[in-house]
Amino acid sequence: MTIESHGKMKLTIELVPSTVWYLSIYQFYKKARQPQKWHEIKRRLFEKEGRFCWICREESARLEAHEIWSYDDIRHIQKLEGIHHLCHFCHKIKHIGLWLHTQDGERMLKKEGFLKEDIIRHFCKVNGCSWEEFKRKEDEAFRVWKQRSRFQWKQDFGEYDPAHERKQQENLTLQRFL
Ligand SMILES: [Zn+2]
Repeated sequence: MTIESHGKMKLTIELVPSTVWYLSIYQFYKKARQPQKWHEIKRRLFEKEGRFCWICREESARLEAHEIWSYDDIRHIQKLEGIHHLCHFCHKIKHIGLWLHTQDGERMLKKEGFLKEDIIRHFCKVNGCSWEEFKRKEDEAFRVWKQRSRFQWKQDFGEYDPAHERKQQENLTLQRFL
């Protein structure tokens, strides 16, 4: 019996369809020149999750905020389910297309002093699985990515929706006058 029959793995590969690349909440605040909004999200994460990776629980001095999206493959809605702090290895798994399959990724990895194998080893350690299982999961992720990249996606920022946040602030301002 393989671990796959026990359900979902702890550390999964989630490839963002190419039609919604650079349309993250991070990019939104970057383009809007509101970096303080992103810093605020990071600050709240430290408060809530401490200095631990949300997935592998390793304590890390270098935590990277990762946006977790879900996909409605029928209505083509991409929804932001949450933002969590990940250690750099778990984060690299999430963006495995870049780190294991592009020259940019290869160059950056070398600069950081790591090998591709280090990333794969981390995946296997966290999930308690074999390299063959990693390969299978990776192939599957690319298959899904290719399929999803054929469509345009409507985005739902959920509780992180900047419009929703603006509305809340307006309400607060309004309350002060009432
Ligand atoms: Zn981790």
